[in-house]
Amino acid sequence: MLPEIETLLVVQDRDHTIQTLRSEIEKIPRDAAAIKKRLDLATQELETAKQAVVENELAIKKVDLDRKVRKDTIEKLNIQRFETKKNDEYAALGAEVTRYQDMVDILETEELEYMEKSDTLGASLSAAQEKLANVKSSMATEVKALTEKKTHNAARIEEVKADRTNLANELDPGLISMYERVFIKKGNQSVAPLNENKCGGCHMKVIADVVSNTIAEKAVCQCNNCGCFLYSV
Ligand SMILES: [Zn+2]
Repeated sequence: MLPEIETLLVVQDRDHTIQTLRSEIEKIPRDAAAIKKRLDLATQELETAKQAVVENELAIKKVDLDRKVRKDTIEKLNIQRFETKKNDEYAALGAEVTRYQDMVDILETEELEYMEKSDTLGASLSAAQEKLANVKSSMATEVKALTEKKTHNAARIEEVKADRTNLANELDPGLISMYERVFIKKGNQSVAPLNENKCGGCHMKVIADVVSNTIAEKAVCQCNNCGCFLYSV
């Protein structure tokens, strides 16, 4: 293999590494936003669960109060009933007592339903609290990992870039600038093998001249279709 091709292969590897490290850094804000979204969602779920508990407690208090008011009324009606001397008034008051007692029965049933609901809502509240705590705890670890990744990748890019510069300096400036133009389009396939007269970069057959020159290894050859640098295998 031509020494220039050997060096270009290593340069290509370094460029690809830099590209990968950069794209990982670019993804970090999106990953951080996803973590924040999970936290917002869990916080919202907890607020909703708390609100439901508060509303149910208020409903229980209201039903309880309504029931007590009606029981007081029943007591007053009963006193009036036993004080009256008139039969028709006695009967009318008795009917009123029955009407109020029916209302009390309905309110007692309602209160029981609210009490049962409060058990379910309490369990939902605990689950939402636990979920938020878990999200917060895993979030701290994930955010730390993202920050570390950013620092690590940035440092690694500088290292690889320094190495890449040294390698590129070994090559002819015209060759390296041509390679750089190819890398923009072909990325990791800018330097590719010639296999059965086909270019490893675009998988198309290359012309006979390029095939023979690549095999002869007298000069650096490029694919006539895609421009990538070829080496014989
Ligand atoms: Zn090609």
